[in-house]
Amino acid sequence: MDAIQMVDLKKQYKKIKSEVDAAVINVLESSAFINGKPVQDFASNLSNYLGVKHVIPCANGTDALQIALMALGLQPGDEVITPSFTYIATVEVVALLKLVPVFVDVDPATFCMDPEKLKKLITPKTKAIIPVHLYGHAAPMEEILDIAKSHNLFVIEDNAQAIGGTYTFSNGTTKKLGSLGHIGCTSFFPSKNLGGYGDGGAIFTNDDALAEILKKVANHGQSVRYYHDIVGCNSRLDTIQAAVLDIKLKHLDEYIDARRNAASFYNQAFGANEKLITPKEAAYSKHVFHQYTLLLEGVDRAGLMKYLADNGIPSMLYYPLACHKQKMFETLNVPVTDLEVTEWLSERVISLPMHTELTDEQLEHITKTFINYIN
Ligand SMILES: *Cc1c(COP(=O)(O)O)cnc(C)c1O
Repeated sequence: MDAIQMVDLKKQYKKIKSEVDAAVINVLESSAFINGKPVQDFASNLSNYLGVKHVIPCANGTDALQIALMALGLQPGDEVITPSFTYIATVEVVALLKLVPVFVDVDPATFCMDPEKLKKLITPKTKAIIPVHLYGHAAPMEEILDIAKSHNLFVIEDNAQAIGGTYTFSNGTTKKLGSLGHIGCTSFFPSKNLGGYGDGGAIFTNDDALAEILKKVANHGQSVRYYHDIVGCNSRLDTIQAAVLDIKLKHLDEYIDARRNAASFYNQAFGANEKLITPKEAAYSKHVFHQYTLLLEGVDRAGLMKYLADNGIPSMLYYPLACHKQKMFETLNVPVTDLEVTEWLSERVISLPMHTELTDEQLEHITKTFINYIN
């Protein structure tokens, strides 16, 4: 049995090696390292895949979120509602731009923003909501979009963990995540579901005017070279990364299937155990399992992680300390909100190896070892 990893990028690469190597060499030969043709090709293929009008590539997922907030013209002191149960990047950019993060609690079944709690946090200063499709599960977008509409708020989807996932509305329409809000953001960090071989990110929108501003912000505030209309930043996707991503995009659906298969193997092994709560998939969401995250009930989590590690099984905590508890917020005047579920989850979550290359033999070893410890 091959060594088990949280994410096995090497094995995945071997399967597409000839394609990827050729594409990378092509970029080297062309020497168009910045804004080469693969960047536009990838953006256009991704826009077709997602069914979104504009894809603006950028340097990473954190930049994507920052550029999105900058493009909306928010002013210091404006409030942005985001979960605290997320990767720090979602919240960090809000604070960086001197906006006020207002933390909303999550639904314990989906790990995503709770729309009822969201409603209660809206004030006259609220300008935007950032739902996060955490672990690959869709946030309840229909409710969030309705709430946003009735209060005239922007919605920025943090889709760093759920590219290729879908949301089905009550009228039966299905859309790809990242294409539902005013702006969608994603990351191509190597371990993400669509990961490059370095950093990368992208911003999505269906709004033509907003697309122009987003492009400008990402490009030093210029649309004509050397004429800078607004204060922007420098955030580009490397041509080499775009070439790699364009190949991996063709495999994304099959990668999602592989992740879903591994998740159902886990669910079958763990579903009946009363000390474990397996991840749910709401009827509106096609889960793409960026992470497979269980909740432990009355299990010594640190002991379990050590036992797994001793048996060659890595595990991780996403995330051990919720954003609102991070030291960085101690000195910022962040409004105190009820985050009971977030704190409850932080103590109970554990994520197991999840990637496209897990074999039945590996899954068998992981689940047996895991059950062995908790029983
Ligand atoms: C990975 C991630 C980001 C940031 O992406 P980078 O490319 O690492 O900057 C933002 N939000 C979430 C939820 C993420 O998982």
